[in-house]
Amino acid sequence: MEALSRATAPSPANRRLLGLARPWLGRLLVASGLMILGSGIGLVTPMVAGRVVDAALVDGNLHRLNRIVVSLITLLAALGLISFLEHLLLRTAGALMLQRLRSQLFHHLLSMSPSFFENRPTGELISRMGSDLTKVQGALTQQIPNGIQALLNFVGTLIFLLVLQTRLTVLALAVVPPVILIAVAFGKRVERLSRQERDATADASAVAEEAMSGIHTVQAFDQEDHENQRYRRRLDGLLSVQIRNARIEGAFAGSVQFAAFSAFAIVLWYGGRLMLEGAMTPGQLTSFLLYTFSIAISVGTLGALYAAWRELKGASARIFELLDTPSDIREVDRPTPLGSVSGRIRFDSVSFAYPSDPDRLALDRVEVQIEPGEVVGLVGPSGAGKSTIFSLLLRFHDPNEGRVLLDGIDLRELSMSELRRSIGIVPQDIFLFSGTVRENLHYARPEATQAEVERAAELAGAHEFIERLSQGYDTSIGQRGVRLSAGQRQRIAIARTFLKDPAILLLDEATSALDPDSEQRVQDALNELLRGRTTLVIAHRLVTAQRADRILVLEEGRVADVGHHRELFEKNELYRRYWKLQSLQREAG
Ligand code: ATP
Repeated sequence: MEALSRATAPSPANRRLLGLARPWLGRLLVASGLMILGSGIGLVTPMVAGRVVDAALVDGNLHRLNRIVVSLITLLAALGLISFLEHLLLRTAGALMLQRLRSQLFHHLLSMSPSFFENRPTGELISRMGSDLTKVQGALTQQIPNGIQALLNFVGTLIFLLVLQTRLTVLALAVVPPVILIAVAFGKRVERLSRQERDATADASAVAEEAMSGIHTVQAFDQEDHENQRYRRRLDGLLSVQIRNARIEGAFAGSVQFAAFSAFAIVLWYGGRLMLEGAMTPGQLTSFLLYTFSIAISVGTLGALYAAWRELKGASARIFELLDTPSDIREVDRPTPLGSVSGRIRFDSVSFAYPSDPDRLALDRVEVQIEPGEVVGLVGPSGAGKSTIFSLLLRFHDPNEGRVLLDGIDLRELSMSELRRSIGIVPQDIFLFSGTVRENLHYARPEATQAEVERAAELAGAHEFIERLSQGYDTSIGQRGVRLSAGQRQRIAIARTFLKDPAILLLDEATSALDPDSEQRVQDALNELLRGRTTLVIAHRLVTAQRADRILVLEEGRVADVGHHRELFEKNELYRRYWKLQSLQREAG
């Protein structure tokens, strides 16, 4: 008993789990009231059933028999109604609880910095939000209430039994210690296996998600078999945990049942003897047996309750772990207001290494100041740190040393949403959401009017082709915008940025070649977009570099040179080589 109470004593994690139910305490209390009422009725039922037997067998009174059976049916109908209401309340409370926890988790995940997602596959996180949370809901709203009901039944029945037949009751209670021992013995393993099962499920989901989101690559490389095998291996892992789990749960359920129902057999034997001696009527024995039966079921359910509790702890452990992981990018409590942004940017001796590779500096003492409205090109070999500059400006990461300033304020002092509202980004790999063209454009500014949306599309050179789509702005563009061409996707992304109208623009020029006509349209749209904004552009095209006010040549995370295109071309060997290589690649492409 001590071991059981120690194991279920409310630890902080347990308290937290129970705390999940707090907002729906009202419903749960009503459900508990109904539960007590139901248990009360359940307790009277065997007594009435015993009377039925005595009326028929001992008294032979048909009239009395009918009356008792009618009251028995009335009692059972009341029990049915109570059970309906109780289920309704518990299930809705469970669904509400799950909705809250899921949205809490989603909200938390969206606030995490990109480095958090680097080590956690999307499929795994989705599996945690899906099946792990469903498990928590099941335990909180089904198994645990069932267990509490069983406890009430157990205590109530015990009192009835003691009144009916003390000696028999003591005999029937012999079942309790073995069940407790069995529950304690199995509980820990159930918890561990439940955790392993959830982990294996998440692992398999991660592999499936990756294969599906990379379906083009999988099929183009003819790697369906490889992916099938990879997934199959994860499923095999899951299956072996599930089989171990089935064994443990089966052994647990079997042992509890054996212990519980042995008591039933013993009572039957001893009660039969008492009846033969004339110490009990058949009706009394019937009532007694039904009560013992009820005790056996309650004790069995209580054993299962303990297992469910351990399983719940297993399933919720990872969820709490996720909820407790703080983002490495934090907002200050009282951010400095940014007001209207002029767009002066400064990297003040910034050094930065990615958390997953802390020994290698992606940026090494970068020192640069960019004036409002200036167009600065970033040029350098692959891996030089160009995209990292964008990531630091968007505060996806914070520098390890030095400061990044916007209008003279350290980015860490600003509110994240104010900062990000002032920056527009047109990346190389454009992400569009499934949904319509209009929905994708509104993503930049949900409150924009139709006229504003169309104006932005016109400026981006996208209005014309959008109008020609089967349903214009209401055309569905498929997952990640697959139904649009690369050039069209780029123009939608540019239109989206026009609508956002940011003071600062981060542009990663697409390297993939578009046809000359499409290319020209995208270029025109971009030129229009840069106007009057502080712009950092990762320049892959010579013409962009030529037009930039200044160019930063990056090499291994350092600013190797700064200047205008012409002077850099003359004096900087790396820069000259870079453009020669680019033009060779273009010709080859
Ligand atoms: P490219 O032109 O190929 O896009 P880049 O100049 O934009 O290259 P960055 O993406 O900024 O280069 O990368 C700079 C360095 O940081 C590289 O050495 C790269 O391997 C490393 N790096 C980039 N992202 C991460 C990450 N998430 N985790 C660890 N290292 C990273």
